[in-house]
Amino acid sequence: MAYETTNFIHQIIEEEMAPGGRVEGQEIITRFPPEPNGYLHIGHAKAINMDFGTALKYGGHCHLRLDDTNPIKEENEYVESIQEDVKWLGFDWGDDFFFASDYFDEMYEQALVLIRKGLAFVDDLSAEEMRDYRGTLTEPGKESPWRNRSIEENLDLFERMRKGEFADGEKTLRAKIDMASGNINMRDPVLYRISHTPHHRQGDKWCIYPMYDFAHPLEDAFEGVTHSLCTLEFEDHRPLYNWVVEHTDVPHVPRQIEFARLNLTHTVMSKRKLRSMVEEGLVDGWDDPRLPTIRGLRRRGYTPLSIRNFCDRIGVAKTDSMVDARFLDYCVREDLDQSATRAMAVLDPIKLVIDNYPQGRHEMCTIENHPKNPEMGTHEVPFSRELWIEREDFEVDPPKKYFRLFPGNEVRLQKAYIVKATDYETDEDGNVTVVHATYDPDSFGGNAPDGRKIKGTIHWVPVDEAIEAEVRLYNPLFTVENPDAEEADYRDLMAEDSLVVISKAYVEPALASNEVSEQRYQFMRKGYFIEDSKHSTPEHRVYNRIVTLRDSYKPE
Ligand code: ATP
Ligand code: MG
Repeated sequence: MAYETTNFIHQIIEEEMAPGGRVEGQEIITRFPPEPNGYLHIGHAKAINMDFGTALKYGGHCHLRLDDTNPIKEENEYVESIQEDVKWLGFDWGDDFFFASDYFDEMYEQALVLIRKGLAFVDDLSAEEMRDYRGTLTEPGKESPWRNRSIEENLDLFERMRKGEFADGEKTLRAKIDMASGNINMRDPVLYRISHTPHHRQGDKWCIYPMYDFAHPLEDAFEGVTHSLCTLEFEDHRPLYNWVVEHTDVPHVPRQIEFARLNLTHTVMSKRKLRSMVEEGLVDGWDDPRLPTIRGLRRRGYTPLSIRNFCDRIGVAKTDSMVDARFLDYCVREDLDQSATRAMAVLDPIKLVIDNYPQGRHEMCTIENHPKNPEMGTHEVPFSRELWIEREDFEVDPPKKYFRLFPGNEVRLQKAYIVKATDYETDEDGNVTVVHATYDPDSFGGNAPDGRKIKGTIHWVPVDEAIEAEVRLYNPLFTVENPDAEEADYRDLMAEDSLVVISKAYVEPALASNEVSEQRYQFMRKGYFIEDSKHSTPEHRVYNRIVTLRDSYKPE
């Protein structure tokens, strides 16, 4: 993969790589550090693209590091899904796969370094007292009465914390920085807390766990990360990040640079909300094609390339903004227009009977798999006397400029024959059930022998050989642009038509195969589709519409 994009972070890195710069001659090392407490979403894809893309651009490495310092929430299911999703997006961490918890011993050593330097102390304040002592944005905090314990006493107490002599919350290890700092993160932040909770990888080995602000800079420093790219909410934590690196005995000095989170319209990305939608059954699992999760986008049929292009093109800024979800669709459509195989499917079928076409006759019509790309080859569709066509392609009383079928009018059946509607049948409610037509036997391939102009072309599938399929159409999951900004519960803002199921559609017989295919199709005039990896079977095909063919939306 080539990474051509540039942004303010790349400019900083290039300045630092230049002669005399901080990382001159060094390999550029970045990391993607997800917490294994949920599935990745499109926001993570932005971070992944940034972290892995930057390393690729400068010939370096990006580490995949599971940030599992918090023992309560992590699950192996998430560890595996994160790896799968990063790979699916097209990135490779090589041998650089790490767990933050593997550094617990070294982190403990570094806490001792701080204690010995008189830069950390064991505090007996409760969480509530600590809050009272912390001060506010406008008022300085107060020093803990335990702040001036001797180094020996601190070493002894910290050792006993580790051995499990104290209950959860009874003591903490805090950095000794500045209770009057204008940055609240620097007011003697907690470095370790007690939690008698087994860890998914470390078991019962630990009952003290490092806080994120202490652990993260150490992990970066241990791994030789040169650039620790993260989202803006960590900007105020950067002084503490630098303080930890400066005062511990670590072999490398990483630099943290922040960029804006991705927010997308008409969806939510908070793990809590995503999880509750899944657990309450409001969606069909973490991979519901309407969700912004990587699994959801994948099942929906979005391509990794289009997601990477999207991430490159939204750019990297220093202020949070909301990106129009239609821009993601635009990137998907752009990729699929190049790569998807063309085929025919009828989503709202009515029968077309060609009365002068011989019973039992079959002719093969050749469909180009891609009109602009002959290397993609062709496939055949059998033509016969009875076809399915779209209900909307026939009108008894056509409006003006309607060029499809109506009594007396001719249309071209895609790659087959020109037919003229002659008559129709209706049910007791007046709905058209069958259209009768005659065909021009000399128009095979779709061209009139006398050169007469045929304005309309419609798609079709043969009744006797078409495959019955369920088709699922998707609309935005939420009725409002930013559900997080509304007062109403986000559940009440979910759109009723986010999933529209068509239970009986028909697709070309060429689409039949013994397995569920990952092939993406453009169903002519209907959009881009893929088989649903969860529910489609050779006996009951289910297709997801990935995106419509076009949208009035144009990116700036
Ligand atoms: P949590 O609330 O659990 O901390 P998180 O969104 O921070 O959730 P992590 O798994 O910790 O999730 O995120 C891993 C990385 O992905 C972090 O570096 C984070 O900054 C980045 N990231 C998460 N959400 C977004 C987003 N919407 N846009 C860009 N980057 C994101
Ligand atoms: Mg996080």
